[in-house]
Amino acid sequence: MTTTAPFVAVDACWVCGGRSFSGVHEATFDLSEYVRQDPELAAYSGSSVIIQRCTACDFTQPAALPALPRFFDRMYDQRWADDWIAHEHEAGYKDLIFTDILRGLGQRSAHRGRLLDIGAHAGRFLRLARRAGWEGEGLELNPKTAAFAARASGSVVHHGNVHTFNPDRCYDAVTLTDVLEHVPRPLEALSRVRAFLCGGGWLAIKVPNGPAQRLKESLRARLSRGYRATIADNLVHVSHFSATSLACALERAGFQEVTVVAAAPELPDGSGSRRPRLAAFRLARALPGGARSPLAFNLQAYGQRN
Ligand SMILES: [Zn+2]
Repeated sequence: MTTTAPFVAVDACWVCGGRSFSGVHEATFDLSEYVRQDPELAAYSGSSVIIQRCTACDFTQPAALPALPRFFDRMYDQRWADDWIAHEHEAGYKDLIFTDILRGLGQRSAHRGRLLDIGAHAGRFLRLARRAGWEGEGLELNPKTAAFAARASGSVVHHGNVHTFNPDRCYDAVTLTDVLEHVPRPLEALSRVRAFLCGGGWLAIKVPNGPAQRLKESLRARLSRGYRATIADNLVHVSHFSATSLACALERAGFQEVTVVAAAPELPDGSGSRRPRLAAFRLARALPGGARSPLAFNLQAYGQRN
């Protein structure tokens, strides 16, 4: 496998600035499906990059990033089918996650005011947030899902990302569910998000638990012949948090009252994995320090703007 697609080295940890790393994984690229839509993007097929853990704060990131301008925006420029988006709005497989977040915010917030869901996707969370008494708005990069989410949830959904969005009023709560792992240099995004919040407002973040996902994938690769562990192919997951590094990132971005717990799991309809997922979550949530255990496949964090 040879490739000439250019990369730029990433020398310092995106969370703590540390420069000491240990390699944990090799991520490979296969973007051949973009060969017509975006040949420069497709040229990264066959490349690979080391994913490495900061020895100071435990955050894990790539040793290099594609030099191609707007690499991530170009990769996420997907033209979803209308019926797939509609299904994403109607499907309940993330409802346990969404209701858990709304409960967590309800316990912390003095009142249910304005909420911004960043990465609003097809708008199901916004619909549930409105039902729970929040005045929800969304922010969504994909114009097609943004328009659908607005129609289906009855909420305002802004088109853009945290760097392009400039709200006219502050929010009492901001949610980032399954978003921050897709964002390079997450501290920059968190600092922007902090500025969207009113004083005393709360941020809720859900991400995969990097160490638990790596352990699960390496066990699966060892047990199933021909299975290759995939945790970061095409750098779809570019920022890998542990409970320690997620708390560190929130504190460094200026949040207070930071807590990190095990996040609720996705529960695909009719899947045999529902029961073990629920059992692992309930145990990880109940155990002291459970967010640092391999039972916590996902992390839920909260932080407050002072
Ligand atoms: Zn670090």
